[in-house]
Amino acid sequence: MGKKQKNDQPVEFKSIKDMPDTPTSVGSMLVNKTSTWRSIRPVIIDEKCKRCMICWKYCPEPAIHPTDPPSVDYNYCKGCGICYEECPFDAIIIEQEGK
Ligand code: SF4
Ligand code: SF4
Repeated sequence: MGKKQKNDQPVEFKSIKDMPDTPTSVGSMLVNKTSTWRSIRPVIIDEKCKRCMICWKYCPEPAIHPTDPPSVDYNYCKGCGICYEECPFDAIIIEQEGK
């Protein structure tokens, strides 16, 4: 597992269970609503969506739900744009927040 410096002493994590409960810890994503990071928002266009779920697969947050069509949970979407980049059917557009 990863090492972390603390008081100049290296700390070795033997397993995921040893890691501190920080925002980057595995399994903490649901408690960290990342929507405040967002300056842009993805919008899925139903008519163009082919339901391939590639956006769901690539989203780094629990922000796309595999509904029909997939839906964006804006509590968790951080506006990284990966879903927009990866959608092979141009079914996702990007809107500026606050407009
Ligand atoms: S990647 Fe695009 S086409 Fe595929 S499910 Fe997502 S929005 Fe729809
Ligand atoms: S913009 Fe990023 S976080 Fe938001 S739904 Fe798309 S891939 Fe997920």
